[in-house]
Amino acid sequence: MKAKILIIEDEQHIAELIELSLLPAGYETQLVHHGLDAQKAITQFKPDLVVLDWMLPGKEGIQILKELREDSQSSDVGVLMLSALDQVDNKVQGLERGADDYMAKPFSPKELLLRVQAILRRREATSSDTSESNLNQVSCADGASFDRNKMDFIIDNEPAYLTITEYKLLWYLFKKSPKIITRDELLKEVWGYSEGVYSRTLDTHIRRVRQKLGRFSHLVQTVRGEGYQWQSS
Ligand code: CA
Repeated sequence: MKAKILIIEDEQHIAELIELSLLPAGYETQLVHHGLDAQKAITQFKPDLVVLDWMLPGKEGIQILKELREDSQSSDVGVLMLSALDQVDNKVQGLERGADDYMAKPFSPKELLLRVQAILRRREATSSDTSESNLNQVSCADGASFDRNKMDFIIDNEPAYLTITEYKLLWYLFKKSPKIITRDELLKEVWGYSEGVYSRTLDTHIRRVRQKLGRFSHLVQTVRGEGYQWQSS
């Protein structure tokens, strides 16, 4: 099945350039040019991935990202953020809010396609793990489990609404426990590449995962000078 990609970009020629960049891979695409049309398109088109511009009329991309992540129907959609503002702050802020990747404009069509493919591959890898295991829910502590289908963490039967990245981070620590995982390994395994991913991004994600884990925040332990470790006791 062809992956569906929603392109939210107000500048017509850039939106078309993005669509053209994705053409070789044969994705099904849809274009949206106004921030206020984003939500409806996400609900109706049900994209696998959204290419999301930062500066949009009506509603900013970062706000659209926030709402998309908060809605359980779309919280696991892949997001590639685009911004003309080539600032580290924007990149960090985008990734902190749950974007899977970030690109500054102008971009090369080839690089855009590669990044989109990388995000979709990571999503696929995570979901094909699921079919192999046959178990949708993997219990990991008393009152807590992983939902492998929804790629979420369940606490007392309530979803924690992890983003894909947060889920992958947590699942990786769990899967490898009791091994201590170095920061480098996490950046490589969870983000797929270390280039361009800031160390601060990892700190932010760890912090957010712990917040979402609530009374299970102790599951993610910092091992000083070494990395992180899953701690189920
Ligand atoms: Ca724009």
